[in-house]
Amino acid sequence: MEKFEAIVVGAGPAGSAAALGLAKAGVKTLLVERAKAPGQKAMFGGRIYSYPLHALLPEFAKDCPVERYVTRETMCFLAEETALSVAFDAPKLATGVAASFTAYRGKFDAWLAKKAEEAGAMLITGIRVDQVYRRDGKIAGVKADGDIVEADVVVAADGALSQVARSAGLRGEPRPAEYSVGVKETIELPQKVLEERFNLDEGEGAAYVFAGAASGALRGGGFLYTNKTTLSLGLVVSSEDLAVTRTEIGAVQDRFRRHPTIARLTKGGKVLEWSAHLVPELGRAMSPRVYDDGLLLAGDAAGFLLNVGYTFRGVDLAIASGMAAAEAITRARAAGGYTAANLAVYEELLRERQVTTDMATFARAPFYLKNPRLFSVYPKLLNEIAEKVYTIDGTGQRRIAEVALESARSSKVSAVKMLLDLLGGARAM
Ligand SMILES: Cc1cc2nc3c(=O)[nH]c(=O)nc-3n(C[C@H](O)[C@H](O)[C@H](O)COP(=O)(O)OP(=O)(O)OC[C@H]3O[C@@H](n4cnc5c(N)ncnc54)[C@H](O)[C@@H]3O)c2cc1C
Repeated sequence: MEKFEAIVVGAGPAGSAAALGLAKAGVKTLLVERAKAPGQKAMFGGRIYSYPLHALLPEFAKDCPVERYVTRETMCFLAEETALSVAFDAPKLATGVAASFTAYRGKFDAWLAKKAEEAGAMLITGIRVDQVYRRDGKIAGVKADGDIVEADVVVAADGALSQVARSAGLRGEPRPAEYSVGVKETIELPQKVLEERFNLDEGEGAAYVFAGAASGALRGGGFLYTNKTTLSLGLVVSSEDLAVTRTEIGAVQDRFRRHPTIARLTKGGKVLEWSAHLVPELGRAMSPRVYDDGLLLAGDAAGFLLNVGYTFRGVDLAIASGMAAAEAITRARAAGGYTAANLAVYEELLRERQVTTDMATFARAPFYLKNPRLFSVYPKLLNEIAEKVYTIDGTGQRRIAEVALESARSSKVSAVKMLLDLLGGARAM
């Protein structure tokens, strides 16, 4: 097979962004995808922060397959039968560089891969890369389906379990403590019903995060995003908790779906699709060394995912890191070759693009979010307080502080623990 200067493994957001950047810089690039088409095997919650696209493709909004621009953020604490929500309405969140939009990954990944092809990258699909190929101990391409494809440099953008990074020795075998399980269903609703139910104008979208009874008190949470005529409804739950409590994710999802608040939001909807995927969860703590001689890791393969409870970011970090990888390669090329020393500039570019800086800012978050009280005691407590405050039944109305104190005492969590949890939250989030 012909030789390439760069091979990018995986036509997800990280891989296609890298291939696009490389092709634009005149690097002869092969983009290899194991699925029959980019996006065919992809799964995510549903929202993409647009800022890296403004830099990668300034005209992206013209043909990017956007479903809806998010104009309302809702954080919702679920107890068994009640829900306490905080909603933030801001139409200006739908404009400019801070805009985020909902999308289907099948369409989005295909669109971005096409942009890479149009820029000159060669895309081949239906080929699974098994490992890096070494010549004289140095990475010199990849092995796929028994064939060797040679290249001077490889970008591993093959997702959360990155076979390429493992074969190169940059990542170890996956451990349950490092991953959560994500499940999602796509539920169809007539556009008019959806817009009325979520109080949206055409093109506007809503994003929900659910904590508490959403994950059956296991560590994790739920999400809901509105597309044009469907909802993306799902959960991300600690795989460790599922294993320890011997709970099936399907059972957690059933309960979530039946919660009165969720049942009302999805009423009359038709489930079109169900999917599941692993989510790397430990943030910076599980990010491996991201470059070596002839190799760079980007996106989930490098552990670039940021879940801080109220926002969930992966696709934007994947695109930004793919762009940084392409730039690192072009700089290494100008410096005379793809040695680790020349590719080390990747770390600087990741900081410049705020990928690793944001990961560092929230480095404590994954550990803070391991506290089970956040998913059981506190959402229940907030709902209890709200229920008491809003129950006017002629038996005498009490002040909020009094009600809160009484509920806090009955939660059996000491005041010291609560204070420490609060301080921990302030430092981590
Ligand atoms: C349940 C869930 C909800 C999420 N919600 C959101 C959200 O709302 N917003 C957000 O920004 N992020 C979200 N994420 C995270 C986001 O999906 C990832 O961070 C993002 O997809 C990472 O992009 P990537 O290109 O690095 O990897 P991927 O999207 O996983 O792409 C990797 C690509 O490589 C291909 N591939 C894999 N192995 C090989 C191989 N050996 N050879 C060839 N090709 C290969 C795959 O088929 C795939 O196309 C969510 C994730 C999950 C699981």
